[in-house]
Amino acid sequence: MTKPAVAAAAHATNFIRNAIDADMAGGKYASRTWGGAPGLAATHAGAAADPAKIRTRFPPEPNGYLHFGHAKSICLNFGLARDYGGVCHMRFDDTNPEKEEQAYVDSILDAVRWLGFDWNANGTEHLYHASDYFDAMYQAAEYLVTAGHAYVDEQSAEELRATRGTLTEHGIDSPWRERPAAESLARLREMRDGRHADGSMVLRAKIDMSSPNINLRDPAIYRIKRATHHRTGDKWCIYPMYTYAHPIEDALEQITHSICTLEFEDQRPFYDWLLARLAEGGLLARPLPQQIEFARLNLTHVVLSKRKLIQLVEEKHVDGWDDPRLPTLVAARRRGYSPEGFRLFAERIGVSKSDSWIEYGVLEECMREHLNQVAPRRTAVLDPLRLVIDNYPQGAEEECLAPNHPQQPELGKRPLPFSRELWIEREDFMEIPAKGYFRLYPGNKVRLRYGFVVECTGCDKDAAGQISAVHCNYYADSKSGTPGSDTYKVKGNIHWLSAAHAYECEVRLFDRLFRAQHPGAGERDFLLDLNPDAKKLVSARLEPALKDALPEERFQFERHGYFVADRIDSRPGAPVFNRAVTLKDAWQK
Ligand code: ATP
Ligand code: MG
Repeated sequence: MTKPAVAAAAHATNFIRNAIDADMAGGKYASRTWGGAPGLAATHAGAAADPAKIRTRFPPEPNGYLHFGHAKSICLNFGLARDYGGVCHMRFDDTNPEKEEQAYVDSILDAVRWLGFDWNANGTEHLYHASDYFDAMYQAAEYLVTAGHAYVDEQSAEELRATRGTLTEHGIDSPWRERPAAESLARLREMRDGRHADGSMVLRAKIDMSSPNINLRDPAIYRIKRATHHRTGDKWCIYPMYTYAHPIEDALEQITHSICTLEFEDQRPFYDWLLARLAEGGLLARPLPQQIEFARLNLTHVVLSKRKLIQLVEEKHVDGWDDPRLPTLVAARRRGYSPEGFRLFAERIGVSKSDSWIEYGVLEECMREHLNQVAPRRTAVLDPLRLVIDNYPQGAEEECLAPNHPQQPELGKRPLPFSRELWIEREDFMEIPAKGYFRLYPGNKVRLRYGFVVECTGCDKDAAGQISAVHCNYYADSKSGTPGSDTYKVKGNIHWLSAAHAYECEVRLFDRLFRAQHPGAGERDFLLDLNPDAKKLVSARLEPALKDALPEERFQFERHGYFVADRIDSRPGAPVFNRAVTLKDAWQK
């Protein structure tokens, strides 16, 4: 999506809000109760009315770091709960024992909090783990078997695959499909008790092998897997399939709107089938949750696939999960992106039912918009060249005053020391000026921002012919803010720092991770699209006060962009800075 298209989407009605409005108007949830904790129907039966008008959830699998796509989902789910007087549950969908770790759990909680959300409401911490529901899920499975809605299938994995059918051919009934419920129940209990080998049998829902929707062709709901779970240890050797577990998690938590990405649309009939069966059996409280799908975030110039992100980290194309070039939230935080910027972004791109791409520039614009309001202005010279004011007294110094925020005068001014030798940007001088160049060149006058007007007299070169210093004379009566200073009319206005006072430090200039809009489009290896210039280190000079910047303090370095003191590598009195975003979009064509 381009910028105008994004603006249109933001104004377009949000179909999820419309659905919620309609549900509320129709009194669909008026009868809901909340037993104080997630649970089967008995937990909620007879309990007080649910103080939460709606319940949503953010259900990551703790198998990786959150990325910008998750930020969209977080802002959506927590934002809806906030706006409707509801609650959003923070839930770890940890039903898959492999690849899940506590370290991911901690980092996910940090990221959600950093984005500005929390899961405390009405005096309760709504932080849940799907693995806490294994008993309820198992109980539901036994019920399904008993009621004739599920059976244990002893076919091999190949047989299961071969009899599933295709998009054009229906599936074939399993020879185990009509076995007596009591026999399936006995097998299921043996599976649970570890009496059968991994993969030797599965529990399947009994729905319809000729359904045009493959997801309804007797999907597997439990499998045998001897694996140690990071929370339940070795208690279980059977684990529920995601498609079975997720609807039950929602129902136990009394979720009203279960919002997920479009690829789950074909799962919705199974979601509804399963919950309806369990409600019929009295296991689940009504009204049941409803699944609503929206288009996932696709962002140009980055990759959001977990597999590709892992590859970037493991093959060391980036320096770890929090490398500011990565589209993970830990990386964004280090880079200086702000939670407010992400929330603005989520609001602006809205939610839709069809997949599309969002330009990376849209995210950057949201960051600029927020940072512009909150970031104090400071001076930085990123590519220093010495400027000598030959008619300024040796050893003298004075203060110039620079506003902390030109649009917010109440933030006051700060002193900038001025002396005979300054640093200016190398690009602010040309020995032979190009057409339309108004900055320093021999014979030209410019204003040193918040300081004096100077006239360039020439330059020095080193043995290699490189310009090593620029010379000028200043006009003593031209100091900004003094009477008569505005009689000097100049076209150029450049920033500078006193060489004797400047703080020298490392500044990292970050840019987009991939040069290509769609990295790896077609069959191309996405690594070929990496942007070699996504990280540049410079030894910069900064105004003296920046030496005391605290980790995560953000500034606008005038004419350059928004920068943050790195939260990992900065030391007290010795911060290093990361560029979050430039002032203007250099990628616009
Ligand atoms: P996996 O491939 O491991 O399932 P995932 O990206 O779906 O990866 P989850 O941890 O399952 O990761 O995601 C948690 C939630 O974030 C889900 O509800 C999912 O719909 C949402 N989500 C993930 N990626 C995006 C995205 N690109 N845009 C919007 N929402 C997303
Ligand atoms: Mg997922």
